[in-house]
Amino acid sequence: MKKMWIGGEFVGSHSEKTFRVVNPATEEILAEVPRGDRNDAADAVEAAAGAFEEWRFMPGVERADLLHHVAAACRHHRTELARLMTQEGGKPLIENLDEVEWVAACFDFYAQVGRDQKGRVIPPVQRDQFNFVVKEPYGVVACIVPWNYPLLLMAWKVAPALAAGNCVVIKPSEYTPLSTLRMAECAFSHLPSGVVNVVTGYGVEAGEPLTTHPKTDLIAFTGSLATGKKVAGLAALGMKKINLELGGNDPFIVCDDVDLDVAVRGAVWAAFLNMGQVCTSAERFYVFESVADTFIQKFVERTRALRIGDPLGPDVDLGPMIAEFQRKKVEDKIEEGRRAGAKVLCGGQRPPGFAKGFYYEPTVLTSVDHTMPLMKEETFGPVAPIMVVKGIEEACRLANDSIYGLGANLYTTSLEHVFYAMERVKAGTFWINDPLTDNDAGPFGGMRASGFGRELGSEGLEAFRDTKHVHLDYKLSSKPYWFPYDWSKARKTE
Ligand code: NAD
Repeated sequence: MKKMWIGGEFVGSHSEKTFRVVNPATEEILAEVPRGDRNDAADAVEAAAGAFEEWRFMPGVERADLLHHVAAACRHHRTELARLMTQEGGKPLIENLDEVEWVAACFDFYAQVGRDQKGRVIPPVQRDQFNFVVKEPYGVVACIVPWNYPLLLMAWKVAPALAAGNCVVIKPSEYTPLSTLRMAECAFSHLPSGVVNVVTGYGVEAGEPLTTHPKTDLIAFTGSLATGKKVAGLAALGMKKINLELGGNDPFIVCDDVDLDVAVRGAVWAAFLNMGQVCTSAERFYVFESVADTFIQKFVERTRALRIGDPLGPDVDLGPMIAEFQRKKVEDKIEEGRRAGAKVLCGGQRPPGFAKGFYYEPTVLTSVDHTMPLMKEETFGPVAPIMVVKGIEEACRLANDSIYGLGANLYTTSLEHVFYAMERVKAGTFWINDPLTDNDAGPFGGMRASGFGRELGSEGLEAFRDTKHVHLDYKLSSKPYWFPYDWSKARKTE
């Protein structure tokens, strides 16, 4: 049985219960993992709180050195961590090898950025005074993580939180806890005890008590809108700071001035990467009418050519979905669309020849419109609905017809289209001619119901630092405006 990582030790749960982690490609049980509860969450928060004083005052160079060490350990165990993520999450190994590298890069980035500055000096309002804006850590951060990018989305929280001087408790998804536990063993064990802790278990049993614990100061959450609302409500009751990274329903606009072969390849990748289980998956396509027929024909051809199979294998583009519940949600959405008049051009079924595993064929739909939930809600699966539009105005209007605002994509070579769309489409990230590319130095996050707060970039560090204004008078002089008041010195207003 696996164990949790609390206070620098591997421990079981107070509950003495476990849950099973299943390989979504084979449906085999991979491991039994402790089913953490309120008491485990409390132990982990106490361990983090206990380590905080030491960690926050560690000199910047020393802390940076330790974070670089985490990055190096990650790279050293890259293949092992990637395989584990593929086994528990079903994402193709080639993508997980990239993910581990991005995790290492994120720790390296924040190791450097975290030692760069701790605030600023501002001009005083009077002579003989000095004013600082000091950035300081919050204390204990609960990092609650989903299953689709288990290590990357953990790193986007943990690396800046630690660089800012906080200590953390990680709650990985119940579907993918194994890679995080292995990270604890091979990378976080290099840090002082209690600086990083990992509690495994279900959201309500292990996640909620982390959110509500009086010594948790900040909650960094990535997950669904529904859970985000719950977490935000609980955080509000405790007046805790919260960063929310929630769902999306990203639009993808294709204008009539691009090389369609390039646009189609980009579009198919943006739709079906990780079986569409990416928060910034392209979930709806708007194609200019003059190129729509060709675009759709090429899109279907490319989709049919995608290779579904064992995600550990070399010649595979798509693995399974994470679990049966997620596949069922996608099937229901497609069926609902079909009943409303959507046409399935390819996919729309489970692939033949797979006795086990939560596989589904990548699906292309046309004859869709904005009365269908398929276009307005997050699907989080391998589904690409394509709508034909007259031009950029209609495309942008439809792009904004969603409660979400996470990412958006545009394919064009027209400067006019670029600026028109970039200024109008509500999205935390706007990709032009290169979908879904992140940058450690650039902020990532959502507008509207996709959340608030930003990860990555300097914004991603600020999210984990509180602000203190320090006002200093170095002359120790009495002020003329203190008691007793003297009307002869009052400022004239007339
Ligand atoms: P989820 O909301 O079901 O779970 C996310 C995490 O929250 C898990 O660790 C879960 O155990 C925990 N949790 C569940 N209930 C909780 C509660 N009451 N209190 C505290 N924690 C609780 O999401 P998921 O299915 O794991 O992930 C998919 C969702 O995440 C999609 O909506 C996707 O768009 C979103 N997502 C967003 C981003 C982003 O950066 N904006 C990135 C990846 C995924």
